[in-house]
Amino acid sequence: MNQKRPLIAVLTGAGISTDSGIPDYRGPQGLWRKDPSAEELVTIGPYRDDSTVRERAWRMRLETAEQAAEPNAGHRALVDLERSGLPLRVLTQNIDGLHQRAGLTARKVLELHGNVRETQCLSCRAVGSMPQALARVEAGEPDPDCRECGGILKPRIVMFGENLDQEVLGQADAIAKACDIFVAVGTSLQVYPVAALPQIAVEGGARLIVMNGEPTPFDEAAAEVIRGPISRALPELVRRLVTEGA
Ligand code: ZN
Repeated sequence: MNQKRPLIAVLTGAGISTDSGIPDYRGPQGLWRKDPSAEELVTIGPYRDDSTVRERAWRMRLETAEQAAEPNAGHRALVDLERSGLPLRVLTQNIDGLHQRAGLTARKVLELHGNVRETQCLSCRAVGSMPQALARVEAGEPDPDCRECGGILKPRIVMFGENLDQEVLGQADAIAKACDIFVAVGTSLQVYPVAALPQIAVEGGARLIVMNGEPTPFDEAAAEVIRGPISRALPELVRRLVTEGA
């Protein structure tokens, strides 16, 4: 019983949510990158400077919220991993909140690119509720402003042209350094600073497992590379990790 149980860090990207019907919006080959009129909606300059861009962005957000996606077997596998009692932290590039919807404890999920459950004011930084902002859009305010200061509201996500939150990134670095097993799931590992995390983990002595449909720059550094569809391969991997760690 004195044996230290391994700390498992799981980094998830768009690939874990595609089986929930959410396309890859943000990656190097993502939809936003291929459609300039869509990319504006999530790029800080046009969003801040042009109210018509914000109005389109709010309508897009309203339509997305109406077609809420459901977690899939990949998300549920990580809940099983948590319930096994093995120490777990999930670092996600996704803003869809599906890890928490699946039942993962919220404080174990670090959202590297923010989330769409909340809004944030560009002026006073006040955080608010996305459902409340969307209710105002539905009620006829095309571009709801900050209730505190009248500033511009945006979803609490990291837009193109913005840096990742330094505190969040610092926590991610610390988890990568401390973990014993680092699993990268459904992420191309091509965009820094998130792509530095598996490197930090390997340098800290962690075993790296890469699960992605396409090759990544870290496949050679990985102890194991898994290509299969994530909603099938991740439950299999979790069963194996639980058996090893128990
Ligand atoms: Zn404000």
